[in-house]
Amino acid sequence: MQTYHNTVRGKQTEANEHQEICNPATGITLGLAPINSELDVDLAVDAARQAQKAWASTSDQERREAVARVAQVLEENSGYLAGLITQEQGKPLSGPGSRFEMQACVGWTQVPSALELPPEVVYEDDKRKDVLYRFPLGVVAAIAPWNWPLMIAIWQIIPAIRMGNTVVLKPSEYTPIATLEMVRLISQVLPPGVLNTVSGDGRIGAALTSHPDIDKIMFTGSESTGRRIVEASSQNLAPITLELGGNDAAIIMPGTETSAIVEDLFWGAFLNAGQTCACIKRLYVHENDYDSVVAALSDFACQVPIGDGMDESNLIGPLQNTMQHNKVKELIADARANGCDVIEFGDIPETGYFLPLTLVGNIRDGHRLVDEEQFGPALPIIRYRSLDEAIGSANRLSAALGASVWANSLEEAELVASKLEAGTVWINQHGAIHPMVPFGGNKASGYGVEFGIEGLKAVTQPRVISIKK
Ligand code: NAD
Repeated sequence: MQTYHNTVRGKQTEANEHQEICNPATGITLGLAPINSELDVDLAVDAARQAQKAWASTSDQERREAVARVAQVLEENSGYLAGLITQEQGKPLSGPGSRFEMQACVGWTQVPSALELPPEVVYEDDKRKDVLYRFPLGVVAAIAPWNWPLMIAIWQIIPAIRMGNTVVLKPSEYTPIATLEMVRLISQVLPPGVLNTVSGDGRIGAALTSHPDIDKIMFTGSESTGRRIVEASSQNLAPITLELGGNDAAIIMPGTETSAIVEDLFWGAFLNAGQTCACIKRLYVHENDYDSVVAALSDFACQVPIGDGMDESNLIGPLQNTMQHNKVKELIADARANGCDVIEFGDIPETGYFLPLTLVGNIRDGHRLVDEEQFGPALPIIRYRSLDEAIGSANRLSAALGASVWANSLEEAELVASKLEAGTVWINQHGAIHPMVPFGGNKASGYGVEFGIEGLKAVTQPRVISIKK
């Protein structure tokens, strides 16, 4: 069985303990991943600290070129890494699956390598001139989840190193292998110590985020862990970018042409078997359109093949782990017990953490499947009578990552969009993120943004030089 390793100071390290990582589609062991100790965290942070000054003193152009080399390595190894993602995380090779995740990794690396953040004259008159400079913060702790393990790690590490920081990344304990392999490959084109990893569960995450030598925390994961990280950061006062869970509402405006939107609506909800932060997790449909929307989604869902993602014909894979599998089953069972209509599609394999694609109708606000983030392939469809009622429903939860409005008229949709409380409101699309467009949550979905120029700013320390003329 293959053992995978952390990268620290540009070298593969040995760990005292390991855990078996199994393919969620087959149960077959993929390999052994390291489990680190708190001492290993100290060593990785020290490696990042020692590398940081030299890295920060390289020119902007050198760092842009280094990040461009990283993009090239990702591109060259995307087939290998996509295979590992599928076997470890479960999303299929095909469709919006692991190859798509690798394309995103390349794109989200190329864009920051092309962006510039020059000093800005923020004020000038005949007596003074004030220039805002942006310096690296230092050592960044990056903590990633298991749903899009490589793409989200790239979102965290690339802007950080682009701006002269060094990084210690901890992948999720559920999906460490593909990430460790990606870091092994890309650190070959970076100076030693610029990008390091530690592995393990929340204990190691807590040791990293509370470490006194951490200057910035990039966290993507659940709200409950986010709250613990905010508390832990009182140790180092590191600023945090917090990308937390979502419970995105989609509102279909009355009379919207269903056939034009059904495919995007489906993938907006079922991308990665629903295990996506900004998936549609609650669908609000006008009572007059309810039957036609349910029929269109049903017709689409029954044609989507579910199974082991290494088979090119499958478009939906398993849930990633038993905890998530049980959670989604529990929410569906709760809806069924409360008299909701549970409609299931797809033949699912007997082994693995598979669930059928599930539409849940005759359901209302207040049911657990509506109010809690399901993070799985079960979509509640809620009838509304007036747009004000739908907007009120969409805004009533504390989760506020994304939302969407689906309509024939863009003008009417924009009016509704302006009333929705979420970090991004999409119109006639959902989850359509872009490396140039800032992305982040409102309310309990976190704070700070990633991507584009704003994402680069988030990993810098602003400093003003103020000159008397
Ligand atoms: P999680 O919070 O359980 O784990 C995320 C990471 O935090 C893991 O690496 C874990 O080991 C680590 N961790 C756990 N306890 C810790 C602690 N005390 N200190 C430091 N680190 C700790 O989340 P998950 O189950 O891996 O991911 C799913 C959640 O992530 C969902 O809620 C989803 O919506 C959210 N998510 C949000 C975004 C976004 O951009 N907003 C993107 C993807 C996923």
